[in-house]
Amino acid sequence: MAIDEPALGTSGRPAVLLDRDGTVIVESNYLCDPAGVALETGAAAGLQVLAASGYVLAVITNQSGIARGRFGWAQTEMVNARVAALLKTAGVDIAGWFVCPHGPADGCACRKPRAGLALAAAAVLGLDLSRSWIVGDKQSDIAAADAVGARGVLMLTGHGGNHAAWARAAGHPVAATLHDAAGLILKTDAARVPGGDQRPLFRRGNVRPPARPAPR
Ligand SMILES: [Mg+2]
Ligand SMILES: [Zn+2]
Repeated sequence: MAIDEPALGTSGRPAVLLDRDGTVIVESNYLCDPAGVALETGAAAGLQVLAASGYVLAVITNQSGIARGRFGWAQTEMVNARVAALLKTAGVDIAGWFVCPHGPADGCACRKPRAGLALAAAAVLGLDLSRSWIVGDKQSDIAAADAVGARGVLMLTGHGGNHAAWARAAGHPVAATLHDAAGLILKTDAARVPGGDQRPLFRRGNVRPPARPAPR
């Protein structure tokens, strides 16, 4: 994962960090063929709404198929490029792609539910995670949001049906489509008090969002 210097003057931007499989595109276990990419219903429309509202859009995705030897980085990047191309056709730009290539037993810092992918996105893209969201179809996506002080939305697409009961019991919002998720995010953020420091309202647990890297 290449880490570039964050652009100056772009700190503190709110983002929606998106899981890929089962969230932006239809779940297809260990997808490694770009021809198999299909956007989820409502994905393009939902991401259009979020982009138009000023949210940075990035993808954070576990791809343990790489560690398992089922496919390589090149195939992963071809799939990502296909997703990006389909979204571009709909007028949606993905600002960054953050991939964990490790397996569950590797103990890496990036595999969701751990924080590494979101922290990398924040460092590269200059994000304020306390004003950001993570959207995904598994408990591990929502737990990653908790780990970085962001908020989570559980999608009912992909594997979401298996995680919805947990999400509801834990007080996390659920959404049937990314278009619904976008509406939920906008409605929630619009309810915040203008001009106030909203961070404590949305912080869960004791993990603080990362400090912004100092410009130089
Ligand atoms: Mg997923
Ligand atoms: Zn990893």
